[in-house]
Amino acid sequence: MDGLGLDDGTKDVIVLHDRTTLSTHGPAQCKGTHCCVHNPSDHPLKDAPMNWRSDRGLMERVCEHGVGHPDPDDLAHKARTLHPEDQWAFSVHGCDGCC
Ligand SMILES: [Zn+2]
Ligand SMILES: [Zn+2]
Ligand SMILES: [Zn+2]
Repeated sequence: MDGLGLDDGTKDVIVLHDRTTLSTHGPAQCKGTHCCVHNPSDHPLKDAPMNWRSDRGLMERVCEHGVGHPDPDDLAHKARTLHPEDQWAFSVHGCDGCC
């Protein structure tokens, strides 16, 4: 299985860009949908390291130039769960063209 092996499928621990760990939902909870942790969609930064922005509540992908880009699967999750007026701010970033 993916992650570091908490095996009831409801919780997982992932290793981030800065080598810290983050507790997140388990693979059982996102089954069947794209997920930035367990089932990334086919986007340019799907293999890039992840950076959790706890100040914004947003998952970023850090490109090879050190720029953080909002993870499109996390944005898709927000699009499913947030009011449209609350979604746009998450996608705003200083993009260098990698995503
Ligand atoms: Zn997941
Ligand atoms: Zn870049
Ligand atoms: Zn970008």
